[in-house]
Amino acid sequence: MSFENLGLAPRLLEAVASMGYTSPTPIQRDAIPMVLEGRDVVGCAQTGTGKTAAFVLPLMQRIPAKPGGPRALVVTPTRELAVQIEEVATQVAKHTKHRVAVVYGGVGYEPQTKALRRGVDVLVATPGRLLDLMERKTADLSNVEILVLDEADRMLDMGFWPQVRRIIQTIPAGRQNLLFSATMSTDVMRVVSSTLHEPVRVEVAPASTPIEAIEQRVYPVGGQEKAQLLVHLIKADDPERVIVFTRTKHRADRVAKVLHKSGINTAAIHGDRSQSQRQSALASLKSGRCRVLVATDVVARGIDIDDVSHVVNYDLPNTPEDYVHRIGRTARAGKTGTAVTLLAPEEHELFREIEVKIGAVLNTHDAEGFEYSQQRLVPSAERTAVRRTRTVYSSSRGRSRTRRRR
Ligand code: AMP
Repeated sequence: MSFENLGLAPRLLEAVASMGYTSPTPIQRDAIPMVLEGRDVVGCAQTGTGKTAAFVLPLMQRIPAKPGGPRALVVTPTRELAVQIEEVATQVAKHTKHRVAVVYGGVGYEPQTKALRRGVDVLVATPGRLLDLMERKTADLSNVEILVLDEADRMLDMGFWPQVRRIIQTIPAGRQNLLFSATMSTDVMRVVSSTLHEPVRVEVAPASTPIEAIEQRVYPVGGQEKAQLLVHLIKADDPERVIVFTRTKHRADRVAKVLHKSGINTAAIHGDRSQSQRQSALASLKSGRCRVLVATDVVARGIDIDDVSHVVNYDLPNTPEDYVHRIGRTARAGKTGTAVTLLAPEEHELFREIEVKIGAVLNTHDAEGFEYSQQRLVPSAERTAVRRTRTVYSSSRGRSRTRRRR
């Protein structure tokens, strides 16, 4: 199957080629022809499946680039997702001449107001800021022809639904609706039946990251020596792209500082960082300017970072589920990956819970050439694997499903 078979116009095929996509992902293969036909579509797909291009490409084909827009509106729950969608739309628009803008909260109004005044064909927005701009009469949705509700389940979970409903009510009824959601809960289904018109449902099983594709390495180390060990491991292994997880914001900053001082290009991302700091940290990891991103769990959720070669558990997460979420960020799309855990003596109990969860005893390692000066505690060699559950890793934000074994 190639993009040529999906009914996309030549200028969109050019965009696809310049984005480096050679063949469509399953959600693109199934959704693009339906969107081009003008059907309402429900896509059950997570981040990481190629769902953004699955709606961005055909919507550009369906709407004209002309004054009086926006003619396509994409509503998404978080600023990070909004920016990611805008990036894809901007790449596509280079070939189609559509104007793309993104609006989200937590930053000044001025640049967003200016962009809207200049004229927009495709608007990507988070619900709160969009409503603000509508109330200020800066955003006018009366000519919207295509509405995309992205990550509908998260918008419901985050309590955005009343806002989204108000937005929908201002858009002409004859519009085409596309709704994407990682899960199809009864709440999502209710939204689908109240908002969409005879939708076609397209679904992809989450691309799974088999546990065999992730090498899990555990380094017992004294709690005060973790930073030096991390520097040593990064210098010795020379990994391509690393996410280091810490328990707290404070520790994230401290680790980033130590790495930086050791000459390792590092960015940090956590809840105390401003939106622009978070964006520039992500951009620098994506562009390769930084090799290491230090993050806390909360902020790392929902961010799509491709090609992570190594995940480092600088601190163990509070729950075994979070361990699974974290390490599922590596070994995506058929690649292999490494998950490194720095294990302090006080973390052994949590570590054991993780082993129970994943049903495996993990190998412990000594870092070659590292001078350990602090007392370490190596987990007992007699511990046995207790497999209670089987975990299926997903490719996206690290969600996972756990099935009880019979
Ligand atoms: P998404 O699920 O939209 O967040 O996309 C996940 C990642 O897959 C993004 O980095 C895209 O650039 C990439 N991607 C999307 N479609 C394709 C494709 N057909 N071929 C290769 N990569 C793709």
